[in-house]
Amino acid sequence: MDVHENERKKPNSFYIEKPFESLQASSNNEVFRVYFKYLVSDETLAGIGVSICDKRDRCVFEMKKPVILDDDSEDGEVVGLNALIEALDTAIGMRIKVVHVLCDSDQLYQYLTGKEQPTDDKISTLVDQLNFIQRKFGYFSAFRVTQDVNIAFKLASDAIASAKTLVEKCTICLEQFYNSRMFSVNTCCHKYCHSCIRSHVEAKLLQGMKLPECPHEGCKSRLDIESCMKFLTPKSYEIMVLREKEASIPPAEKVYCPFSGCSYLMSETEVLEYTVDLFIAAKGSGMRKCVKCHSLFCKNCKVPWHNNVTCSDYMTYNQAENEVKLKSLATKKRWRQCIKCQNMVELVQGCYHIYCRCGHEFCYTCGAEWIKKKATCRCPLWDERSIAHNPIH
Ligand SMILES: [Zn+2]
Ligand SMILES: [Zn+2]
Ligand SMILES: [Zn+2]
Ligand SMILES: [Zn+2]
Ligand SMILES: [Zn+2]
Ligand SMILES: [Zn+2]
Ligand SMILES: [Zn+2]
Repeated sequence: MDVHENERKKPNSFYIEKPFESLQASSNNEVFRVYFKYLVSDETLAGIGVSICDKRDRCVFEMKKPVILDDDSEDGEVVGLNALIEALDTAIGMRIKVVHVLCDSDQLYQYLTGKEQPTDDKISTLVDQLNFIQRKFGYFSAFRVTQDVNIAFKLASDAIASAKTLVEKCTICLEQFYNSRMFSVNTCCHKYCHSCIRSHVEAKLLQGMKLPECPHEGCKSRLDIESCMKFLTPKSYEIMVLREKEASIPPAEKVYCPFSGCSYLMSETEVLEYTVDLFIAAKGSGMRKCVKCHSLFCKNCKVPWHNNVTCSDYMTYNQAENEVKLKSLATKKRWRQCIKCQNMVELVQGCYHIYCRCGHEFCYTCGAEWIKKKATCRCPLWDERSIAHNPIH
């Protein structure tokens, strides 16, 4: 028989072509078996094998995928479910009507038979997808077996073996890593493990720098931001994107959203375009709409939008208001700092003769020291208003 392998879209999955006629003729009610195996090699590596066989156990489709289990781990369960979905999709494409899935995983069996619902959102979506494909077959059933997945077992261990040969050494930490766990700088192709390149970039970020160069000595290749997504934490990546943006906007063009929960950085061109789309008149005023939180603000006064008030009126009013606020705060809270111990002492009583808890005594009005219960200054001892409100003296 003329059997050859066609590589399908995804790597590591192979479609073994049967003469189409014979498949079609026999396919109506022929039972096809789908073997599934998830095989753990060690704590760093697992393999998945899926095989679709006809009633004579001749393979019509097979797939092998290595699963690398490390810090940036792809979830083995997710990879496994995706592999099975891909295999069943292929079976549908081959017009297979009757399918028996054989697996040795109790968990997968529970999902296939609907006896157990996953709690994790991602898994749940995949199981829904799986159950949806199941219903496309004329007949579908799942079996939990202990021995009978040999064909898939072989594929899974092949996947593990091939992943093991693809290791490379990181030139910074000198440890070996699976190929897919190495980061390669786009322009110079120098390679590092994710953990080393992450430390390199994060160190530069802490120094306030933007995208650094390749860590290889003398290499001037710049890292590009998209590729950094592979190894940076979401938080660091966000900072990096912001740095890049900050560096790309000239200082005079920078506009920050004044809402404290947002503070989003925009270029004047960007925010003006966005605002004019909604309010034609915005161009002539300081009114802008934040691209991120969509709140209106004044880019001149750097405050939430002051409706019906011009910027200069707003500033004058605001300045006066601020002065009043400050004064009333100072009057309300009658604090003085002790020059000996730097403690804040509050004048709660009417007498301007202050005793600090450190033992220092001083005049509330001018701060001059009191020696032997006597003032060394000529400030009045009493504040009439305070006495009126504090009838202690
Ligand atoms: Zn390394
Ligand atoms: Zn380089
Ligand atoms: Zn905003
Ligand atoms: Zn304004
Ligand atoms: Zn003191
Ligand atoms: Zn007193
Ligand atoms: Zn005084």
